[in-house]
Amino acid sequence: MAVSKTNMTKSELAAFKKLLHIEQATLLEIESAAKASSQTVVLDQTSVGRVSRMDAMQGQAMAIETAQRRTLRLTQIAAALKRLAQDEYGFCLDCAKLINPKRLEFDPAANRCIQCASSQC
Ligand SMILES: [Zn+2]
Repeated sequence: MAVSKTNMTKSELAAFKKLLHIEQATLLEIESAAKASSQTVVLDQTSVGRVSRMDAMQGQAMAIETAQRRTLRLTQIAAALKRLAQDEYGFCLDCAKLINPKRLEFDPAANRCIQCASSQC
């Protein structure tokens, strides 16, 4: 089975590119806001008791997890934008088939078709 270039139109690709850029900008904005607020949490810890310190630690662990997820998402978006630039956007990284456009509408950074993505753990 020959792998063909994407059959999406230029305007469809441009729409996905726009979505990716918007999400990227939003995430970067949240990231800088989160960095500013995490500094406040560290300062607050000096005056709190044991229970609230536990809360603060739990909150910090969650913040770290959220930050990691955000970083991962930013990596996925950057990779999707790179694929767009290289005219390789919309293909599954595993089986090289076209990813369903409906799936891309739901997640413009998707890099695997639904079959390959769902067979992953
Ligand atoms: Zn696939």
